[in-house]
Amino acid sequence: MTVTTSTATDARSRAAFAEAQELIPGGVNSPVRAFRGVGGTPRFIARAGGAYVHDADGNAMIDYVLSYGPLVMGHAHPHVVAAITEQAAKGTSYGAPTELETELARRVVKAMPSVEMVRFVNSGTEATMSVLRLARAATRRDKIIKFEGGYHGHADFLLSKAGSGVATLGLPDSPGVPSGVVSDTLTAPYNDLDAVAALFAGNPDQIAAIIVEPVAGNMGCVPPAPGYLEGLRSLCDDGGALLVFDEVMSGWRCDPHGAQGLYGVRPDLTALGKVIGGGLPVGAYGGRRDLMSLVAPLGPMYQAGTLSGNPLAMAAGIATLDAFDAPGVWAHLDAMSGMLCDGLAERAAAAGLPWFGTRVGTMFCGFFTDTPVTDYATAKTSDVATFRRYFHAMLEHGVYLAPSQFEAGFMSYAHGEREIAATLDAAEEAFAVAARG
Ligand code: PMP
Repeated sequence: MTVTTSTATDARSRAAFAEAQELIPGGVNSPVRAFRGVGGTPRFIARAGGAYVHDADGNAMIDYVLSYGPLVMGHAHPHVVAAITEQAAKGTSYGAPTELETELARRVVKAMPSVEMVRFVNSGTEATMSVLRLARAATRRDKIIKFEGGYHGHADFLLSKAGSGVATLGLPDSPGVPSGVVSDTLTAPYNDLDAVAALFAGNPDQIAAIIVEPVAGNMGCVPPAPGYLEGLRSLCDDGGALLVFDEVMSGWRCDPHGAQGLYGVRPDLTALGKVIGGGLPVGAYGGRRDLMSLVAPLGPMYQAGTLSGNPLAMAAGIATLDAFDAPGVWAHLDAMSGMLCDGLAERAAAAGLPWFGTRVGTMFCGFFTDTPVTDYATAKTSDVATFRRYFHAMLEHGVYLAPSQFEAGFMSYAHGEREIAATLDAAEEAFAVAARG
C-alpha cells in the first residue's frame, strides 16, 4: 500500500521564504534549514503528526529529520501533547524549583550509566559550553581536544573544525570568533588515537578534557572504530584529563543507554539535549558526583539560566522518556531503522551508485562514496552533487531528508512498515534520477 504524499506545488513555501528573508537572516533561525547545501526553497512546515510533516502548501512528507533528533516518539505524540497542555495550564515558568526537574533528572540518571547528578539548561550548545567550563574548573587546565567534523553547538571556542552546518556552508570557522578563544582548542581527526596521543605528548599537564561525539552525527553518522572510545578513556586517564561524551544527539538514539551504554565506556561527564526535551528546548550536563558538586550553588563553578529546568520542557521530556521506555519501543525503532538502511543500500547498489551506509540504532546516514567513511576527511569524499539530486527527488516523492549530506537521519516510533515501504519506493526512483546525473 502506498502512502498518499504529493509535493505538487511549493508556491506558498516560496512566498513564505521570500518574506522571511526580508526579516530573518537567510530566512531561517538555524543555517542548515535554508537548503543552501542542496539549493532550492526550504519547505515551510505548517503542522506535523506521527511520522509526517505537512508543509504550507499541504504536502505530506515522511520525516527523517525529526527536528534533528529530538522526536524519537514521532511528532505530536499524544502523551507528550497532553503533558505539555496540562502543564501550560498550570503556568509556563516560575524561576523556582519544581518536582518535575527531579523527576526528569531521575530518568536521566537511570538511563545514562555514568551520570550521577545532572543540571538542566536550554540547549545542547549550553550543555557543552557549561560541561567544558566544569572540566576546566575541575582540572585547573585550559586546553581541550575536539575532533574534526565534530559539532558541539556554536560556542566560540567550539567553532573550530566543526562539521554540520559549518561543513555544509563551507566556512572554515566563523568570523567573530577571536583567535585567542580557539587557541586552547586542539583538534584531531576522528577515529585516530595516535593523533590524540601526540596532542597529549605535545601539551603535557595542560589538557583539561577531550570532548567527543561517541557516535559522530554531524559529519553524517560515523560510528567509532572498535577500541576507539576505550583508547580515548585510557589516554585521558594517563594524561590526567577528563573524558566528556557529547551525547546531545546519540543519547536515546544509538541505544537506550546512550553510546556509553552501548560501548561500555564510562565518560567522566556527559552533555545531553534533544530527546530529553521531547521537542522543547532543553539541554543538560551531568556525570560524576564529585565533579558535579563543583557546580554552583553547591560549588564554585558558576552556571545559571532564567528558563533552565523549564516546566513545559521537563513535562515534555518526562512524557517522551516514559513513552520510549514502554516494552517493544526500542525493538520497533531498531527494526524499522534496519529495514530502511538495508533497503536503501540495496536500491543504491541496484542503481549503480556508490553508497556507504552507516547506522547505530536510530541514527543513520548514506554517503555517496566508495570510500569507507571513518572520519571527516573520508566523509568529504562523498559526491554532494549526487546527494543534491537524490535529496530533491526524495522531496518530490514525499520524503523529507535533512538538506545536507553531512547530517544524520533519524527514525521515530511512529514510522511503521508502511512508511518504510513508501520511502524505499521513493528511493528507487530518486536513485535512478541521481544516477542519471
Ligand atoms: N552537540 C551535538 C552532538 C549536536 O548534534 C548538537 C546539535 N545538533 C549540539 C551539540 C548543539 O545543540 P543545540 O543545537 O541544541 O544547541
